Amino acid sequence: MIFCKSMVPYIYSKLQWVLLCCFLFLVHGENIKRSDFPDEFLFGVATSAYQIEGAYLEDGKSLNNWDVFSLSPGNIQNGDDGYVAEDHYHQYLKDIEIIQSLGVDAYRFSMSWSRILPRGRFGEVNPDGILFYNKILDELILRGIKPFVTIYHFDFPQELQDRYGSWLNPLMQEDYVHYAETCFKNFGDRVKHWITINEPNLFSQMAYQIAKYPPARCSQPFGDCPAGNSDIEPLIVMHNMLLAHGKTVNLYRRYYQHEQSGSLGIVLDCQMYEPLTDNVLDQEAAKRIMAFYIAWALDPLTFGDYPSEMRQYLGNQLPQFSSDERKFIRNSIDFIGVNHYATSYAKDCVHSSCSATANRSIKGFVDTSTERDGVQIGEPTGIGSLRVVSRGIGEMVEYLKTRYDNMPMFITENGYSDPQLEGEVEDAIQDFKRIEFHKMYMSSLAQAIRDGANVKGYFLWTLMDDFEWIHGYSIKFGLYYIDRQTLERTPKLSAKWYQDFLKNNTQTPTIRITESVQYTANS
Ligand code: BGC
Repeated sequence: MIFCKSMVPYIYSKLQWVLLCCFLFLVHGENIKRSDFPDEFLFGVATSAYQIEGAYLEDGKSLNNWDVFSLSPGNIQNGDDGYVAEDHYHQYLKDIEIIQSLGVDAYRFSMSWSRILPRGRFGEVNPDGILFYNKILDELILRGIKPFVTIYHFDFPQELQDRYGSWLNPLMQEDYVHYAETCFKNFGDRVKHWITINEPNLFSQMAYQIAKYPPARCSQPFGDCPAGNSDIEPLIVMHNMLLAHGKTVNLYRRYYQHEQSGSLGIVLDCQMYEPLTDNVLDQEAAKRIMAFYIAWALDPLTFGDYPSEMRQYLGNQLPQFSSDERKFIRNSIDFIGVNHYATSYAKDCVHSSCSATANRSIKGFVDTSTERDGVQIGEPTGIGSLRVVSRGIGEMVEYLKTRYDNMPMFITENGYSDPQLEGEVEDAIQDFKRIEFHKMYMSSLAQAIRDGANVKGYFLWTLMDDFEWIHGYSIKFGLYYIDRQTLERTPKLSAKWYQDFLKNNTQTPTIRITESVQYTANS
């Protein structure tokens, strides 16, 4: 073909289309492949004990904080509870077969404190609890699946609450260390990745600021609780958790590391924040809320003290570490566990008016929202505050990479909950949007890794629809659908997609999720 000048506009217009298509293809993660990640990168699924096990009083397990919390009407949506949950306690073998069939490298699960030590330090180890987790670990290892074990994921024996107020009391540190050591002694020969605590940042706020998790304490203006102090207690609870973590890691490194050669990390709720406007005050607010939510836990465990921003705004309300404590919490994580779901906007409250709950030192004088000028930050999911913003996962690991010298990271949770389904199984299992969500987030993550972020693995939340805390069974994140009557597990399309993805096959059908489009506040 003879090239002539008159063809330039034609070629140019075609090129624009090609570029646009490539862009959409990339943005929507259509071509994400396992081989876009490093060879040694681990893929897995994650669960937690209370959310799937059930068998709440079987074989010596005692009542825990969530069992008791569920008893009071109004605490959990639809009056649900975790007494039966997904019956994983009885169906664990089937579940491990499912996990294996997905083709994952690793499985993140948690142990139930009240199953292993029904009375904490005040009673004996429960042999049936040990037996249960031994069976799980042995099965996983037999099938070549690496266990990532969370020692504590929101549930603990109620006795520790009743005796001394659990995490508000430094005595809880001793109970935690005793429990963690029981786990190292019994399971440490097979567990090479331990997570000490799941989301101390989210837990301390949910339980001690806005009273949504047990023991549901708060004060005005956060809520109307019989007891609590929303401005102070979350800080004390985090402090006790950080010290419990530090003591445990020191104990492990001193007495178990040599023989067991495992590594230990902590998992945080890593919600990303972007400034609401380009205004420098909102930019500062976005940085501040990251310090108040993420560096709150990670700075002490890395550098030995709370971030200076927190000290500046909280003064003496922020607990102090003694010089001894500073020494043992410093450098006490081998990896950061990143639970990432969503991104929100941050707005400065120091110089503009905000709601009473945002305009407070405990919040760093930052307000958060999902909406800017009537436009939502991303498509809604089943949980109102969680919007689909796939760039956020890349931004988050970039933030951690910069602040913590590119310490190893694992994405320990990332998942999509369906907005209200019609309720039928057909609806639930045709979960195109979940597939698209994971492709988009994985694409953003793969790019961050290419840009140098030291991320070592990705755990999809979650294996099967489960007990989603205060939402009960109404919110669904699973790759498998659970029939609540029969407890039968049915794979959703996303299970098939993940399986294919892990085989490096990208042919599963998809649908497009729209990001940053016009959603009115009510849509
Ligand atoms: C928790 C999970 C929970 C998930 C989805 C995380 O905060 O670690 O237990 O199910 O979010 O809501």
